[in-house]
Amino acid sequence: MAGFGYQDTPIIPGSKWHVHDGERPQPRIISPTSLPRIAPVAPPSDATVLFEGRNLDEWESCKTPGPATWKLVDGGCMEVVRKTGNIRTKKKFGDAQFHIEWAAPAEVVGDSQGRGNSGVFLMGLYEIQVLDCFNNPTYPDGTTGAIYGQYPPLVNVCSPPGGWQIYDILWKAPRFDGGKLVSPAYVTVMHNGVVLHHHQELQGPTKHKLLAQYEPHEAVGPLELQDHGDPVRFRNIWVRPIKQYDQP
Ligand code: MG
Repeated sequence: MAGFGYQDTPIIPGSKWHVHDGERPQPRIISPTSLPRIAPVAPPSDATVLFEGRNLDEWESCKTPGPATWKLVDGGCMEVVRKTGNIRTKKKFGDAQFHIEWAAPAEVVGDSQGRGNSGVFLMGLYEIQVLDCFNNPTYPDGTTGAIYGQYPPLVNVCSPPGGWQIYDILWKAPRFDGGKLVSPAYVTVMHNGVVLHHHQELQGPTKHKLLAQYEPHEAVGPLELQDHGDPVRFRNIWVRPIKQYDQP
């Protein structure tokens, strides 16, 4: 038995693994193509910039109505403040391309899910895990870049904690017709330039220790970042809504 994860949880449909199964095969560990870039990747000219380092004006607290109270850090990044709760964008998005840079704490504390845990919640509901999995095994569907509780990343391409890492995410929002799911959500995730999920269908909004299940929601939703108690940093966050062909 692995020293982490669960075997008393439901079996994930289409797999033979329990939700957060510690025995599920560990994602293969690989190195990024190059050392993570020091300078932020400049957003393209049509991007909506959600955080460029100077203020949290685009964000609000999920816990208490009002401004986001995470810490602005010298050098143009923000840091999770424990117990202040998740933060989310004031703007909402449907199909979109997201660029997010994050850094796990340089000082390594804890293990498994307790090391540099945060998360990127698409539409405020669907989590792409943020975690320091550099020399830190955990249950595979909770590894860095996992579609949490559903799919492990295809590989583990974490770079060492303290350095900047990059998520580029292509999101296709689910479609509902009244109370009925018409089309599920799909996600493509690149981590440090390497694909972790390729147009992967999601089983529903993220759950802990439970099976995901769709429930109708708005066509758009905020980008949300998780306070899991660890001082994870973020910088250079931008989004480009994805339009249809021939749509200006
Ligand atoms: Mg998380």
